[in-house]
Amino acid sequence: MARRFGGIEAGGTKFVCAVGTGPDDIGANMVRFDTTTPEETVGEAIDFFQSYPDLAAIGIGSFGPVDLKRGRITTTPKTAWQDFDFVAAIRRGCGGPDMPVAFDTDVNAAALAEGRWGAAQGLDTFIYLTVGTGIGGGGMVNGGPMHGLVHPEMGHLRIPRRPDDQYLGRCPYHRDCLEGLAAGPAIRERWGRPAEDLPPSHPAWGLEAHYLGLGIANLILSISPQRVVLGGGVMEQEWLYAQVRAKVREVLNDYVAHEAIRDPEQIDGYIVPPGMADPGVVGAIALAEEAAGRAGR
Ligand code: ADP
Ligand code: ZN
Repeated sequence: MARRFGGIEAGGTKFVCAVGTGPDDIGANMVRFDTTTPEETVGEAIDFFQSYPDLAAIGIGSFGPVDLKRGRITTTPKTAWQDFDFVAAIRRGCGGPDMPVAFDTDVNAAALAEGRWGAAQGLDTFIYLTVGTGIGGGGMVNGGPMHGLVHPEMGHLRIPRRPDDQYLGRCPYHRDCLEGLAAGPAIRERWGRPAEDLPPSHPAWGLEAHYLGLGIANLILSISPQRVVLGGGVMEQEWLYAQVRAKVREVLNDYVAHEAIRDPEQIDGYIVPPGMADPGVVGAIALAEEAAGRAGR
């Protein structure tokens, strides 16, 4: 039988686990469950993988911030997960000391999947940004994952508040960073209704496009991505893409000298939705495949 890999998308609210080799063959081998305590949640993941004794490696794309070298989550407000030895727990429960286990951020994993099979194929420098319960960004630079001192934290960029916006922001570390102002829970708290219940005509959306446009313009200026893949629950509002693109063009004001951004039609192919349904868990499988290759499995 061909090699198969296990993938875990470890989110702050839910876990997704899957087995397969890529986006086309994981459908029947996928489970989702709520994130509770590390012991219980990782236990559920281990139970799932126990039905697949043939796995060549396991990949984890995790909520963060994470310590990539030690395979742990670090300064999360979810205190039970702080410093939990995630990679070691998975290895112990799934195959033991010889099992290759790869670990990266959820957004770097998603970017890997988008680069290999999705909306960023053929590119070597691009960003994957998700706007959901939080805002997170990862990607690739020159064909490699965006690591560094720790890893990028694009959701916590500081952006100027729009003068008419009275909402203080809800990031526990910075209050009015991008995530604090523009993630789903901020929309809900500011306007008293969840984002999915706000009609397209609601002023919430002009403000949302304003903040996302500023954040993405800053990322374009600092990283010079060849494309920006923009996903997450809030971007289920498909018409929001046009507003975000328009704001990015307005902020950059033709300064970045490339038609991909300057041409109001080409920008539709520059800031794009994800190319698959579950890039996080698919990317975790891709991480596993890389780890298996490194281990010669
Ligand atoms: P997570 O970030 O936890 O992985 P999601 O990406 O689904 O999960 O994001 C959840 C957030 O997205 C919630 O704040 C929710 O209000 C918002 N959201 C979910 N669906 C929609 C929608 N169709 N339109 C606008 N906002 C949505
Ligand atoms: Zn913040």
